[in-house]
Amino acid sequence: MAQREWVEKDFYKELGVSSDASADEIKKAYRKLARDLHPDTNPDPSASERFKAVSEAHSVLSDPAKRKEYDETRRLFAGGGFGRGRFNGGGGGGFGGGFGGGGAYGSEGVEFNLNDLFDAAGQTGGANIGDLFGGLFGRGASPRPSRPRRGNDLETETELSFLEATKGVAMPLRLTSPAPCTNCHGSGARPGTSPKVCPNCNGAGVVNRNQGAFGFSEPCTECKGSGSIIEHPCGECKGTGVTTRTRTINVRIPPGVEDGQRIRLAGQGEAGLRGAPSGDLYVTVHVRPDKVFGRDGDDLTVSVPVSFHELALGTTLSVPTLEGKVGVRVPKGTSDGRILRVRGRGVPKRGGGHGDLLVTVKVAVPPNLEGEAAEALEAYAKAERASGFDPRAGWSGA
Ligand SMILES: [Zn+2]
Ligand SMILES: [Zn+2]
Repeated sequence: MAQREWVEKDFYKELGVSSDASADEIKKAYRKLARDLHPDTNPDPSASERFKAVSEAHSVLSDPAKRKEYDETRRLFAGGGFGRGRFNGGGGGGFGGGFGGGGAYGSEGVEFNLNDLFDAAGQTGGANIGDLFGGLFGRGASPRPSRPRRGNDLETETELSFLEATKGVAMPLRLTSPAPCTNCHGSGARPGTSPKVCPNCNGAGVVNRNQGAFGFSEPCTECKGSGSIIEHPCGECKGTGVTTRTRTINVRIPPGVEDGQRIRLAGQGEAGLRGAPSGDLYVTVHVRPDKVFGRDGDDLTVSVPVSFHELALGTTLSVPTLEGKVGVRVPKGTSDGRILRVRGRGVPKRGGGHGDLLVTVKVAVPPNLEGEAAEALEAYAKAERASGFDPRAGWSGA
């Protein structure tokens, strides 16, 4: 029954150290006290009592695992840990099961205090207090009782058009996934009934076995580690609290997502077992390439076919953007392949604003020039030579 004593004893005070003292501080404090109080050196009768107390405090606080257990024990009881929450579940399951059917603790709304707990254990004899505490706190490997598990995160994929991805889109997404059972609201218990605390592990989900000096804890086989037992399982979900369901959720894809990007939708993942929180949904976005537009980060790219004379003489091009068209002036003497920048007409940025529109001009050559146009171009060629223009002047391959 060491833990019961733990609740009543302040080992830190005994050693005169603070509760966040380091191992070294504890060791030093103990050594000094042990020296001062040792019965061989200190004849005062009260010293021998103190010496025992100090030794006990040191034996717990100097062992990291024991110290942790001690801290947890005290924290739990200091905060009135045995209130309604943990054991006093609805429907009268509660403590009765835990103590071998002692009905006095089964009814809803009964508050427990520490002495009640110990007295109950002593009277019923159904469980010994060491088991109870051992089960609660575990030993070594799993110091914490298991809790209802949060639902898994789900992954899905969706394909968007280029424009949907750049401008953002609200879209329905069909998901087939485990979801909270609508019949039992995820509790796993038939409507009108409640899960009860597992009598084998007293709700801890783990049981302890002591073998000599060693204690082992292992998952409780009665409740499969969940800490509760469903006596009347919900017919829809067979007690799991989860059913497979195809659902359509409306997803808001923010503007500016890129191909391959993963979007997290909080709480839209798999339902948690027995009412635990749901996981998240991750949507990987695939973006179909667009015939007109491309992207370079937040900049929207577009390649515009132009005629030689448009570059040579200059013109104004009508260029598509995400929102309507924009007139882009091509200066006289613009070379083929030049990129013209239109500020603020690109892809919406995450933090607000837009990237730029990058317009690449690309000369289109008439495949079969005939008639008047061909004659005019012949005349132009002659005139060009006469003007002294040599396209390969300064070319290193000449
Ligand atoms: Zn159900
Ligand atoms: Zn159990």
